[in-house]
Amino acid sequence: MIIPLDNKIFPIISEMVSEQSLPCYVIGGYVRDLLLQRPSKDIDIVVIGSGIDLAKSLARITGRKGKVTVYRNFGTAMLRYDDLEIEFVGARKESYQSDSRKPSVENGTLGDDQNRRDFTINAMAISLNKESYGELSDPFNGLDDLRNKIIRTPLDPDVTYSDDPLRMMRAIRFAAQLGFAIEERSLAAISHNKKRIEIISKERIIDELNKIVQAPRPSVGFYLLENTGLLDLIFPEFSRMKGVAVMDKKRHKDNFRHTLQVLDKLSEKTDNLWLRWAAIMHDIAKPVTRKYIEGHGWTFHGHEFVGAKMVPDVFRRLHLPLGTTMKYVQKLVLLHLRPIALVEEEVTDSAVRRLLFEAGDDIDDLMMLCEADITSKNDEKVKLYLGNFQLVRQKLREIEEKDAVRNFQPPVDGELIMKTFDIGPCREVGVIKNTIKEAILEGIIQNDYEQAYGLMMEKGKELGLKKVNGEW
Ligand code: ATP
Ligand code: MG
Repeated sequence: MIIPLDNKIFPIISEMVSEQSLPCYVIGGYVRDLLLQRPSKDIDIVVIGSGIDLAKSLARITGRKGKVTVYRNFGTAMLRYDDLEIEFVGARKESYQSDSRKPSVENGTLGDDQNRRDFTINAMAISLNKESYGELSDPFNGLDDLRNKIIRTPLDPDVTYSDDPLRMMRAIRFAAQLGFAIEERSLAAISHNKKRIEIISKERIIDELNKIVQAPRPSVGFYLLENTGLLDLIFPEFSRMKGVAVMDKKRHKDNFRHTLQVLDKLSEKTDNLWLRWAAIMHDIAKPVTRKYIEGHGWTFHGHEFVGAKMVPDVFRRLHLPLGTTMKYVQKLVLLHLRPIALVEEEVTDSAVRRLLFEAGDDIDDLMMLCEADITSKNDEKVKLYLGNFQLVRQKLREIEEKDAVRNFQPPVDGELIMKTFDIGPCREVGVIKNTIKEAILEGIIQNDYEQAYGLMMEKGKELGLKKVNGEW
């Protein structure tokens, strides 16, 4: 079967390897994505010979000498060619020891190289040599598995996953990313080998987990992680959300299911990885705050505060970025009940102003999260909530126009307070600053210099402070 190759780089490689009589193929993810018509910018080339030499000659011929990176330890080289990343490697044969995912490697044939690939859909190669240009080599019927949307290992899945346990994460990631099913024997082998995930570095695990989070429907991946037992090993806080408790015939909803519904709903609206993480984390403290109160039912009082406190620990353990990214997720977890509380009580100007002040530029993301958080089966209820959220959004716009508190900077700052009363940094400065902030948020004064200055003077007097030129 001949596959049309679309990129202009392939005839150039073909010319070169044919001249040198080097058998050469494009292989793996690029071939899979080409057949699925998914755009892809990284190309893997396998050659029966030296990948490094081939990359260097290609760089010379195309005038891109400075664009080669050689990884001598791995025997590979990468060439940047316009927006493409082309990786060159000599065909290899691998054998594994049980304590490491790093195999011992020797030179091999194309067949050997295909044998070491993780899935049938990732083991296909297309010839770049002139006499067979475009011909598909598909020893494990990957094409059928692509058509039938199946993830299957070329060799015994027990061996494949045990050799390199990262493949368990990759299988689940591809299932979520492509909407494929994992073949039954493979799924059983993942459950069976789950403990082996312990030899994989946190960085590699989180890379795959983030790809699952970025899938069109991330829940597909998380259910697979949960059902195979991997989730409990890599992210136990999330796994712990599963289950329903019953008391006096009263049951609460399954928070794991609910969270995944929220995550999927949100993912229809946004590709923002960290907003998606906020959805994953928003109810994370429900299991630890759960209480049954007689005559009332189940409560999860304070789960937003406890949840926000859990965010740094979870991020650190999973090797997710700390800093502003983590703070963003933490803020959304902390505030996720506020818009709904606002709707349930009354949409007053001061409540909206406070929310806007606390959420800052993340207010739109927070509203998106809260809308996704409405997963009731009762259509009337959903309609009511969404309608009320429209009202909140409307109010947010009005207040923002009027008061500009989104990125609130007090019109009178600590410097001015200290200068005016000739004092150093002390408690009184804080008290005055806070009084001004509160007055603005409550709508007692407007967010401008003159009114804030007036209030500063008033409060200063009350605190027994003296103006510098001694007017009082
Ligand atoms: P993507 O680029 O979308 O992450 P990919 O399948 O191209 O997916 P890469 O990491 O780029 O993934 O790997 C390229 C190819 O190398 C794969 O298609 C597969 O053939 C092979 N491969 C990658 N990782 C493994 C592994 N852990 N075990 C076996 N083969 C692998
Ligand atoms: Mg790739």
